[in-house]
Amino acid sequence: MILTPHILVGAAIASQIPNIWGLILAFLSHFVLDFLPHFEYSIKGIQKSEKKQFFRDIVKVELDFCLGMVIFTFVAMDLSPIRVIYGLLGIGAAVLPDGLLFLYYFSGGKWFKKLTEFHYWVHPKRHKIKQKLLLFTIFTQVLVGMLAILVLIL
Ligand SMILES: [Zn+2]
Repeated sequence: MILTPHILVGAAIASQIPNIWGLILAFLSHFVLDFLPHFEYSIKGIQKSEKKQFFRDIVKVELDFCLGMVIFTFVAMDLSPIRVIYGLLGIGAAVLPDGLLFLYYFSGGKWFKKLTEFHYWVHPKRHKIKQKLLLFTIFTQVLVGMLAILVLIL
């Protein structure tokens, strides 16, 4: 999944369960969301360290991250400080698997190999799903994001 739904779900879980278990669940939520059929933009420039595409991909990732953080910021305005803090920690936990993917690519496939294999394993046949059901795979992420916002404002 793109980062925005991961951010919102991680924030929702950890702000509702403000302890270590909430953070662990936020981390695990990453793999559950990646298991759902979903659209993903290409980050081949990052994966293969192609100079031309690399910075374009970094901008895509940054815009995606910023979108999630802007939505969280708007929603967090009505939350108590402790829920905001745990929401932010939950965001860190929920996006950590993708952060570790970056370290895997940068290490040339040496660091976090097992975790990366598992990360890829939870994406069954993603390319086939992506092409055939593009609208559906975008919808799943919008739905996940909206449900997470609902849980956040409870
Ligand atoms: Zn992922």
